[in-house]
Amino acid sequence: MKEIVVVSGKGGTGKTSVVASLACLIDRKAMVDCDVDAANLALVLNPRIIEEKEFAAGKKARIINEKCTDCGICRDMCRFDAISEDFIIDPVSCEGCGACFFYCPASAVEFETPLAGHCYICDTPAGEPFVYAELLPGEENSGKLVTMVRTEARERAESMGLSRILIDGPPGIGCPVISSITGTSLALIVTEPTASGIHDLERIAQLARHFSLPAAVIINKSDINPACTESIEQYCNANNMPVLGRLPYEKAISEAQRQGKAVVEYAPDLPVSKALREISEQIISIYKE
Ligand code: SF4
Ligand code: SF4
Repeated sequence: MKEIVVVSGKGGTGKTSVVASLACLIDRKAMVDCDVDAANLALVLNPRIIEEKEFAAGKKARIINEKCTDCGICRDMCRFDAISEDFIIDPVSCEGCGACFFYCPASAVEFETPLAGHCYICDTPAGEPFVYAELLPGEENSGKLVTMVRTEARERAESMGLSRILIDGPPGIGCPVISSITGTSLALIVTEPTASGIHDLERIAQLARHFSLPAAVIINKSDINPACTESIEQYCNANNMPVLGRLPYEKAISEAQRQGKAVVEYAPDLPVSKALREISEQIISIYKE
């Protein structure tokens, strides 16, 4: 299975619009949105949900009233002030440390694994599988939920005889990004020619190197700062990362998104759409079925 993950090191670089166009141009693949905190690829893929799965994660303590003797030991032991005067545990404050469980003389504490989010398995108008998820507000197990969406997508791809998966990675370089890139075939890094763009590119490239993952780069809005674009290309050359394409700035991309379309669908004749087609052809030729 060839898994291509599109990442950016930071949000706002045009990553999802690149993924949306690649999703139109590369056929016979499954797709995954690994941004479980703010999934938005669904807005352009127009999917139909065919299955919804609950995602349970973490541990929260609960006091069994019938067994509790109101001795107060658990409240004294809880460093997170999660236990109220009348011995009710606030699930938001509870860190699941287990102190109340171990010190309770009446064995009145038990642990629950609460619902932390939902995973949606979908079908797209092209008949390809698409998986995304939503983490409930305040939940922190995004890395595990990312693993769940990737596993679901891989199973769907295998059952349909598809050998490619296109992954929209979350922004940043944290835990969900690590869960999104591990074990993939290529990290496709979208960057912009700004000082912070170069910095973010370096950070995500370092992460890909750490996981021994081949990386390639797309420079978005490459014409807004030619000197910076030149610096990015020098950095890529020095670090063995091919630049798969340079996308010109194009305001039609925002309009395409407003209409729920990828720019290659909305305006296929624009230079940016041509550049995206060339990028997709390179990816298809590298990751032939
Ligand atoms: S330590 Fe156990 S018995 Fe004592 S108040 Fe807490 S839950 Fe109740
Ligand atoms: S598990 Fe830890 S954080 Fe949660 S209520 Fe018990 S002592 Fe407090």
